[in-house]
Amino acid sequence: MHTPLCRHASGEPVDYARRALEIGLTEIGFTDHSPMARDDFDDWRMRNDQLDEYVEKVRRAQREFPQLTIRLGLEVDYLPGHEDWIRSLAARHPWDYFIGSVHYVSDDWAVDSPFQLSKWKNRDAFEVWSVYFDRLTMAAKTGLFEIIGHADLPKKFGHRPTRDCTPLYEKFLDAAKQHNCAIELNTAGLRKDCKEIYPSREILQLAFAKGVPITFGSDAHAPEEVGLNFAEAIQLAHAVGYAESWRLVQRERQSAAF
Ligand SMILES: [Zn+2]
Ligand SMILES: [Zn+2]
Repeated sequence: MHTPLCRHASGEPVDYARRALEIGLTEIGFTDHSPMARDDFDDWRMRNDQLDEYVEKVRRAQREFPQLTIRLGLEVDYLPGHEDWIRSLAARHPWDYFIGSVHYVSDDWAVDSPFQLSKWKNRDAFEVWSVYFDRLTMAAKTGLFEIIGHADLPKKFGHRPTRDCTPLYEKFLDAAKQHNCAIELNTAGLRKDCKEIYPSREILQLAFAKGVPITFGSDAHAPEEVGLNFAEAIQLAHAVGYAESWRLVQRERQSAAF
């Protein structure tokens, strides 16, 4: 879940925590968009000098709602070559977990950006999927992340490759399994044009067959989005065979039945 520091979310962590209690959640986690080494990289994340403020906002929610378990994380952008930067972020606070996310398929195209939709015009969907899943595979192999975020994000606006992507998915999921990474069931996809949880049932089925763990996330960018559509996510996970998900405590993986 996010905070206003990323410049495209609303509501303070205390508001998200209040909402979580209202809908009966017992544990939540904040994973706002990590700062980049260069603050002018883009305009939809906290600045580097706001990281402490972010942590303090989460700490405040922890203090005000002691009856709710609140984890401290980051959604970290993975781009090839950013590994040292990500390691330096990891050293700055006692994080519970990092979600490794690929948004960028090149240094100047975030595939989920509504402001860069024209980029799709010159690109073949399968080629975008190939680059995307290559980067996801690299992210899993770094060992820097407990969770890989929204694994099929390029479907956000409804683009779909016509070619079979199974080999791309298999390569990524094999890397996730080998490097002890979970994938998240992210319900934000239901609120986008693709109208589908990230990742698809097809990918989730492959993940289950390979023994890749899962987590649940609403990717809330506003308090009313906290835990949204979790019933559907749980139903999907059960339908493909999952009965356990991960919770993350100080970067340690723990399994819990759901
Ligand atoms: Zn966001
Ligand atoms: Zn994301």
